[in-house]
Amino acid sequence: MGRREESVAYNETVFRKANEDLRDEWRRMGIERAAEALFICECGDPACKRPMQLRLADYEAVREDPNTFAVVPGHEDKATEQIVTDELVQRNDRFAVVRKRVAFRQDTEATDPRR
Ligand SMILES: [Zn+2]
Repeated sequence: MGRREESVAYNETVFRKANEDLRDEWRRMGIERAAEALFICECGDPACKRPMQLRLADYEAVREDPNTFAVVPGHEDKATEQIVTDELVQRNDRFAVVRKRVAFRQDTEATDPRR
């Protein structure tokens, strides 16, 4: 991986960790899986930090794979990932799901907070 690709993956893993903390908070507050809650765009741009509404169930579906991330539509990094929204969740206009291409998975798998 080049430095740009490493930087994209690093930022995605930082926002993933932040969203895991948010998810713990929503669960403590008793928000149900079918309800929407606030998360942060997990794209590779460190300046982004855009909010997104996801159902907790959809967030969990994204988190099951260490190589998938939820991003604001249009925030995908076409060089290192592809959009797989339809595979995991219902298509919507609030967020898209991206999966790292095979050549760019080392960092996202090594830092998976669920493993
Ligand atoms: Zn973003």
